Amino acid sequence: MTTRLIVENLTCRHGLLTAVRDVSFALQAGEVLCVIGANGAGKTTLMNAIAGTHRPVGGRIALDGGDVTAQPAFVRVRSGIAMSPEGRRLFADMTVRENLLIAAENGRAGDWTLARVLEAFPQLRPLIDMPAGRLSGGQRQAAAIGRALLTNPVVLLLDEVSLGLSPAAVEGVYQSLAMIKEARTTTMVVVEQDLTRALGFADQVLCMAEGQTELQGMPGHLSREQITDAYFGIHDKELSDV
Ligand code: ATP
Repeated sequence: MTTRLIVENLTCRHGLLTAVRDVSFALQAGEVLCVIGANGAGKTTLMNAIAGTHRPVGGRIALDGGDVTAQPAFVRVRSGIAMSPEGRRLFADMTVRENLLIAAENGRAGDWTLARVLEAFPQLRPLIDMPAGRLSGGQRQAAAIGRALLTNPVVLLLDEVSLGLSPAAVEGVYQSLAMIKEARTTTMVVVEQDLTRALGFADQVLCMAEGQTELQGMPGHLSREQITDAYFGIHDKELSDV
């Protein structure tokens, strides 16, 4: 079986700052990777590089064995990589339906239709003809994920899923994501600040600090202490220096 998504030694800069350094992982079809790490760790830059909106200076991204590193974002969407970005970025004056249908027109053909997105995110149903600018945070997140799904991705990138949402809204969004995960067809890379949530949802966890991989593995194989140390960038050496 060809590996669905390979990220190999990816390095990204913002000017002189190396925001992502030598990050690698591989995901099979339907696998979920949660990316965790403190503010400024490089998570969003990593997601942008996979989506094609930030050009890496080193490394390689392959989708189903094909190198997509040089593909611009709009081509990657057609290849099957879609992102729901941090801040959601919906067209505020357009209705939820219009926001969703634009994605459908620019993506790939597939099983995700407007009707199926509304099944997965029932909270959007009564809002469908409302301007997106009037939605709450949780509703905006649902619409942004629905928009990405309507491009019929094989790799879904979700940046900051629960940031700024009420606990009830987070629960609603994760119920929908659990349904998508259960189908085991859509590979997901999820940036999640809530450690408990990330560890409960992920097949693999990648913890970044200052652009680098601090810890990587399956949640069941990592201790809570290892994960929190990695999250805060605490190294054994530093501890022994204390
Ligand atoms: P956050 O959770 O705060 O969004 P993050 O882990 O997603 O953080 P990034 O947003 O990828 O991290 O930022 C990584 C580093 O790159 C940070 O030091 C940040 O200040 C810097 N950075 C991000 N975007 C830019 C930019 N457009 N220009 C210059 N530096 C940037």
